[in-house]
Amino acid sequence: MPGLYAAGDAATRELICGAFTGGGSHNAAWALSSGFWAGAGAAQFAQANRLAASTHLRAQGRAGLLDARGQRMDSGALIKAVQDEVFPYQRNWFRHGEDLQASLGRLDTLWQQTRHAAPAADHEQTLRLREATAMLAVSRWMYRSALERTESRGMHRRSDYAGTDVTQRHRVISGGLDDVWTGHEHLGPVVEQLLRGQAA
Ligand SMILES: Cc1cc2nc3c(=O)[nH]c(=O)nc-3n(C[C@H](O)[C@H](O)[C@H](O)COP(=O)(O)OP(=O)(O)OC[C@H]3O[C@@H](n4cnc5c(N)ncnc54)[C@H](O)[C@@H]3O)c2cc1C
Repeated sequence: MPGLYAAGDAATRELICGAFTGGGSHNAAWALSSGFWAGAGAAQFAQANRLAASTHLRAQGRAGLLDARGQRMDSGALIKAVQDEVFPYQRNWFRHGEDLQASLGRLDTLWQQTRHAAPAADHEQTLRLREATAMLAVSRWMYRSALERTESRGMHRRSDYAGTDVTQRHRVISGGLDDVWTGHEHLGPVVEQLLRGQAA
């Protein structure tokens, strides 16, 4: 997306850590390095686009914004409801398809409620609700991706699929707001070669 720059944990660090955590300096190094690159990129972009001040901004999705049919949502309650699904180790560390499905059912219901919620009381509350809605969107991408990966790999551990499956050496990608989709992105030949070297 032109003009959007992300750094640190908000950007993928999987390229340097693989499917596992990069604890013990990798993550901190990634936050610093990607911050430097993103900052330089954003500065270049801003300089090059100085004359395009009238760039149009467009809201992505309506959840937490405008639709006035439903009840007003409380951002704090929404955050707590998402945390209840993604914090417990029994759901998100020891993953099982049935638990993931059950969480997704509740998260999808929350999405529908948020999508039709009445506008927040003021600008501050609108911002808080959009932040909470972003957490909700991520939780639905996360658990749909987790269901798609029917194996255990790196930090993704499925008790119903305990082994690693050599045919699943792809990335699972996901997106969508009202309808969440998942897909596979195949690794480049260099990464494939490295993995083959590790396995040998
Ligand atoms: C328990 C644990 C152990 C770890 N151990 C290691 C390790 O040994 N080695 C290692 O390299 N890494 C480790 N990490 C990972 C490392 O801490 C992170 O990768 C790194 O801190 C990410 O930096 P960041 O700046 O991208 O994000 P963060 O440090 O999360 O910074 C994001 C900031 O944005 C703020 N923020 C969020 N939303 C808003 C908002 N709406 N408005 C204003 N501010 C906002 C947050 O309060 C926060 O201060 C560990 C992490 C955890 C949780």
